[in-house]
Amino acid sequence: MASEYIELPPDDSSTVNSNNQPSLMVDQASLNQHITIDFLTLDQNIEAITNNVAPNTQLWPVIKDDAYGHGAIPIAKRLAPQVHGFCVVRPLEGVILREAGIRQPILVFEPPNERNIAVYTSHNLIASVSHIRHLDLLESGCSYHVNIDTGMKRLGAPIEELPVLTQAIQKRKDIYGKGVYTHFYKADDPGSTTVAEQLDLFQRLQSQFPTEWLRHTANSGAIFHYAKQLPLSFDAVRPGVCLYGYSAGNQAIDSLSPLLSWQSRLVHHQPVKKGESVSYGARWRAPRDGWVGVIPVGYAHGLPRLLSNQMQLSIEGTLYEQVGSITMDFTLIWLGENKIPLGSPVFLLDADQLRANVWAEKTQTIAYEITTRISPKVPREYVG
Ligand SMILES: *Cc1c(COP(=O)(O)O)cnc(C)c1O
Repeated sequence: MASEYIELPPDDSSTVNSNNQPSLMVDQASLNQHITIDFLTLDQNIEAITNNVAPNTQLWPVIKDDAYGHGAIPIAKRLAPQVHGFCVVRPLEGVILREAGIRQPILVFEPPNERNIAVYTSHNLIASVSHIRHLDLLESGCSYHVNIDTGMKRLGAPIEELPVLTQAIQKRKDIYGKGVYTHFYKADDPGSTTVAEQLDLFQRLQSQFPTEWLRHTANSGAIFHYAKQLPLSFDAVRPGVCLYGYSAGNQAIDSLSPLLSWQSRLVHHQPVKKGESVSYGARWRAPRDGWVGVIPVGYAHGLPRLLSNQMQLSIEGTLYEQVGSITMDFTLIWLGENKIPLGSPVFLLDADQLRANVWAEKTQTIAYEITTRISPKVPREYVG
């Protein structure tokens, strides 16, 4: 029988959250794939984090960039009862959370500027200050944390500039300093000496700030690799990637599990003869007569093209090899002699063998990049 491309109706996941996407974005491919985010796994990861830090440590989860692709609003709503605050990068992310009803303090990592300064007051966002210029911008009544650079050399205040900054802080009685923090640049490596060095520096510098201010330093790497060494850092912690179930570095952490699975469906299959090539560039040839299946997911949805001929997918619990070049909207799978029925669920990612960190390793990146690049066109569904 000649194979035809099937257009399946939306699958039975009626709870799919379309993230208020413009309707043009919800193309046919989006209907034949979705991401599932498991809240029970999120609860377990939170427990793993809590078990690693000192009692009474405040949790300030990092839900920047749509919670690393998992959906900032649903993640924030789920976490709200268990955490003290949230961290984002841009003020607009904070505005979106406020409008969704999030009441916890929200710390914005990016420094404020003239164009967005008003939303810090209107939406009660905590600014990050690393220069007197930022202090000068802040409107009366605004709260802020001071970000000190101890080696990352990205956004924090350089040590030499701290005297000027602390002097300026004294003069602004109409705004509220609430915290001081720094960021580790190599905490993902369990054997690094830089964490101790940075902490040492932070220990000395933080004493210039009022004792009631919150001190925080730890990202995922520090929480899982340096928890014992760094008691001071644990007024509060800023867990990011570990919330979503991934280690910050190469060392796997058994107590963490990915929240995310990515599922599509077989929309097409066709016979191939031994020696015939499939997809662009003829980068794969059939080792024998058999069937090639197609899913409507490609690099336009965030599936890295570098994974071509290098990844596996799971159909009903069995792993199959992806074959040929991954294309913009479609990906091919070698089914062997199994003419798997159209409409069958196909998993690209799961919490088992098909993990984002495996993709990351094969494409020389990190799980952070894999999950943040999954297109917003792919609907997110929440369970648990
Ligand atoms: C992203 C970020 C974090 C979280 O980092 P993870 O490695 O994902 O835990 C914490 N603090 C700052 C300043 C960040 O930019």
